Amino acid sequence: MALRFYNTLTQQVEVFQPLQGNTVRMYTCGPTVYNFAHIGNLRTFTFEDILRRWLLYRGYKMDHVMNITDVDDKIIRNAAAEHKSLAEYTAKYTEAFLEDSAALRLQPPEKMVKATQHIPEMVAAIEKLSERGFTYVSDGSVYYRISKFPEYGKLSHNDFTGIRAGARVDVDEYDKANARDFVLWKAPKDGEVFWESEIGPGRPGWHIECSAMAMKYLGETLDIHAGGVDLIFPHHENEIAQSEAITSKPFARFWLHSEFLNVESHKMSKSAGNFYTLRDLQAEGYQAEVVRYLLASVPYRKKLNFTIDGLKSAAVAIDRLRNFKLRLETDKYPEGLNEKLLERTHAAVRQFEESLDDDLNTAEALAALFEFVRDANTAMDASEFRAGNRAPALDLLERFDRVFDVLRPTQAAGGLSDARVEELIQERAAAKRSRNFARSDQIREELLDAGIILEDTKEGTRWKRK
Ligand code: AMP
Ligand code: ZN
Repeated sequence: MALRFYNTLTQQVEVFQPLQGNTVRMYTCGPTVYNFAHIGNLRTFTFEDILRRWLLYRGYKMDHVMNITDVDDKIIRNAAAEHKSLAEYTAKYTEAFLEDSAALRLQPPEKMVKATQHIPEMVAAIEKLSERGFTYVSDGSVYYRISKFPEYGKLSHNDFTGIRAGARVDVDEYDKANARDFVLWKAPKDGEVFWESEIGPGRPGWHIECSAMAMKYLGETLDIHAGGVDLIFPHHENEIAQSEAITSKPFARFWLHSEFLNVESHKMSKSAGNFYTLRDLQAEGYQAEVVRYLLASVPYRKKLNFTIDGLKSAAVAIDRLRNFKLRLETDKYPEGLNEKLLERTHAAVRQFEESLDDDLNTAEALAALFEFVRDANTAMDASEFRAGNRAPALDLLERFDRVFDVLRPTQAAGGLSDARVEELIQERAAAKRSRNFARSDQIREELLDAGIILEDTKEGTRWKRK
């Protein structure tokens, strides 16, 4: 079966192919850098990373653009409260976002673009909208007249007829249930940052940012536009209204939205105060890849209920896979090939791929892998595993890790290199042979302190990082 995604626009699961050649042009709405990202935000970015990696796995090239919203109401308010310039204030949280992304192994998009560096493009887009009669000015601010765009509501599948006339909204986020004319360009208020422009002094609204930057870098019709479900309305609805009013072409072919991460059935959010940042969890001793695993393990269209127990299970799951890999790499197996097990391995690869082709069903992909690990361990225990089965099994793990990327442990800061660990293990073996047990115990302790666990087996000493 071909690669399929659920498209919010059509409310159908559809076969995906890029419009032009082999390259997928994808835009994902990035963070508003007014604070540290919480793991709800990071769930959305992790989903987009899995999406990206799966498209790469399937042989496509990516042209992926993500924006950084570095000007908005909250940023302006917070920067003023700290007596900082906008740039100074947002630099800190942009840096933090990049650190979190790297820790979570989110592949960098081909382009990461900042709103404040694209003001002329936004002004030009607003001018085009004005030429086409989609705007009006009130008190120096420019608004989008949604009654001029008959398809308004087509993404969120809301029927807005009758409630469109003239009601306006200035703030970046607003009443989710009601459609309002939204602001494209805000007149400056006392002491607030603004830009001089052909349409007067002011600053851009949130929605025009994404339309202007997406079309600048990816053209008039994108293959994929993604974000969290809370962006469907009004943000993405407004992006469509703006972009399609300018080009008269479909703005994006596929709209993909990930569900919320909840805490005790409530959306994790800054305003509710029920949030964890990645840093909070790292400080409690959870490696970033454990968080990554948890975020990726629930299919993106299902709500994810976050619990510490869930995080612990994620750590156990990763350990199981790492132990299996270690066993594959270090155990000695009799020569030959177990044909049945080889067929079992190929079936696992197929199930893994079919699950992800099916709208990124990560839970089924993981189930396929774990069932294989169980069967392979059983074969090993029963001495039915053969040397020829090693490479295909490692290949399955490699395929899994190309997407999930959790097998490599995060190197503890100041930790020992692999080479140094091997050296100490050899020294320990030599000490044992010369019956210098004090020294061999000392080395074991030393390694343990550095987070390295040794396991002595018939075949020699295996090691892993805690
Ligand atoms: P923001 O930085 O507030 O613009 O949000 C960045 C992204 O995180 C957006 O795509 C939101 O849809 C998403 N988001 C916010 N809260 C949650 C949550 N609790 N679970 C999943 N995604 C979220
Ligand atoms: Zn956006």
